Amino acid sequence: MIDRQTPLDIIRRRYPNALSTSDTVDAFLDLMQLHLGIEPRKLMLADSICSDDLNTIEYPRRAYEMLGPFKLGGLDGFPFAGLTGMSAFAHHVPVDGAVFVFHGPHIGVSKEGDTGIILRPGQTHHSACCGAIRAAIDKMASGGILPGELTELDYQQNTIEQLLLAHRDRIASARCAMDESTEVMYSAIEKRIDILAARTEYPCRYLVIMGGVLINSDYDVGSFCSFRRLVCIDLTTGRREDWLDELLDSAARLTYRVTRNGDGIREARRCVE
Ligand SMILES: [Zn+2]
Repeated sequence: MIDRQTPLDIIRRRYPNALSTSDTVDAFLDLMQLHLGIEPRKLMLADSICSDDLNTIEYPRRAYEMLGPFKLGGLDGFPFAGLTGMSAFAHHVPVDGAVFVFHGPHIGVSKEGDTGIILRPGQTHHSACCGAIRAAIDKMASGGILPGELTELDYQQNTIEQLLLAHRDRIASARCAMDESTEVMYSAIEKRIDILAARTEYPCRYLVIMGGVLINSDYDVGSFCSFRRLVCIDLTTGRREDWLDELLDSAARLTYRVTRNGDGIREARRCVE
């Protein structure tokens, strides 16, 4: 019997709990309906993901059933929109709705399972993903990053360089610098999101935060997410609930197939067994 691995199988070798981004949205919207009785059009979505054009091309279609997205992220998904961005979007939520923040860095994993590179639409050669992280790693390896240097012309990239520079030895000794740097970025983004979220006022009852590593594969495969957290905070009581296991359980019965969407770009879709 021939062992044919799906793209999700290949992604899961490195990220065991990964799901396609489309499955993620489907399972998430079901959970919101089940637990809070809130329908998609009353969810105010903000994402803090890389401004890479591929993330726009591969944005899950059902995510547009929610309000937004408000874009909190800049290069590699760090929430550069800051307190002002967080406060602005939070005040756009319906009073009987909920605020939902998705955050995470991204990394490419090609169809062949190579980390840090992907084949983009219309191109014949693989390129780096995240390109900003690749550039920062190369600059750090050549000793080009100066401690504390933040320039007006390249502020976002310089910020990423400083975040990675603080973990130079860890990244240099890692088996895969792209992989390790992505983990460093995940921690930095999560920490910053929590600071911003704690300093923001919300004219609604619920704040929901999902964190993960966004995984882009080749253009004809689609995108995936490896999860780190899914928490719901009742802002009237301060009670926090962890829904990550439930999200993964509800998605466990899903298998993967690929369909072609209207733009000619393949999108990972679920198939219920
Ligand atoms: Zn990127």
